[in-house]
Amino acid sequence: MIKEHVKCLIIGSGPAGYTAAIYAARADMKPMMYAGLQPGGQLTETTDVENFPGYPDGVNGPEMMLQFKAQAERFGTDIRDGLATEAYLNEVPKRVVIEDKAEITADTVIISTGASAKWLGLESEERLKSGGVSACAVCDGFFYRGQDVVVVGAGDSACEEAMYLAKLCKSVTMLVRKDYFRASKIMAQRTLDTENITVMFNTETVEVLGDQVVEGVKVKNNQTGEESTIEATGFFVAIGHKPNTDIFKGQLEMNEVGYLNVQSGSTKTNIPGVYAAGDCADDIYRQAVTAAGTGCMAALDAERYLADQGIH
Ligand code: NDP
Repeated sequence: MIKEHVKCLIIGSGPAGYTAAIYAARADMKPMMYAGLQPGGQLTETTDVENFPGYPDGVNGPEMMLQFKAQAERFGTDIRDGLATEAYLNEVPKRVVIEDKAEITADTVIISTGASAKWLGLESEERLKSGGVSACAVCDGFFYRGQDVVVVGAGDSACEEAMYLAKLCKSVTMLVRKDYFRASKIMAQRTLDTENITVMFNTETVEVLGDQVVEGVKVKNNQTGEESTIEATGFFVAIGHKPNTDIFKGQLEMNEVGYLNVQSGSTKTNIPGVYAAGDCADDIYRQAVTAAGTGCMAALDAERYLADQGIH
């Protein structure tokens, strides 16, 4: 097990983590980053990002994250693979365990662990995860070329997934539990305008059908109670995300669903020297650009803390 001490440890490698790394490295804080389960974060699962300023023609999500990474590395961030599995943030110095690989002590910790896809919680969904149930169209859509698929959800993610799949698949049926989309108007309209997408409003999933692989989906209209079956080989869930903050429970203040609390106008958590940036602390905006902004703030907050503590 590697044991090391750093001035600034960054946990997570999405837009928040990389931006914190760029600022911390340029401030000579010699940051170390552990990239987590999904290096690059959620944007590595998306296709075109059209709303990040500076890219008038849009940018491919995974490519953008490689650019973030290259910029963080250019200034000397020590970026490593590994998942933080235990944290002891009240100790001095703070201590974080990375699986069975490393134990890092740090004067400051920036938490940018992001959020992960939520699931419906059905037994059939769990059972068929390696047989046609997915939460990532970009990762798995390829397997369903020319086939019929179902997408659950009504937010921007669901619309994006449905439109991506519509380009590859014969048909996409979208299951929306209310009678309206939560997605932005432009995304909802594009979805409705796509010829091979059928939107079923007021519709919930009863069960994903199939033994080894998805063969269909049993759905129920929550207004009439009527049940029906949709034939499909792929079942894509896009119903939002859960913050990756479980290892900080009991140490950091968080809301009832796990989003970390930060002091208004800063990234300070309830523990001095520990900062939170990006989606793990944001259940309102959840954008790459806001995550990057709070990543910058976290590095500046950590820099001031080190200066106040006389740590050079
Ligand atoms: P959201 O939280 O915005 O939407 C989640 C959707 O899933 C809601 O419509 C919700 O339904 C539905 N849902 C939740 N639980 C269930 C369930 N058990 N059964 C059926 N439906 C369910 O999450 P998103 O991931 O879509 O978006 C998160 C953020 O990221 C947003 O701010 C979004 O704007 C942004 N985003 C932007 C993109 C872009 O601009 N390119 C792309 C993707 C995301 P209900 O409405 O009934 O609550």
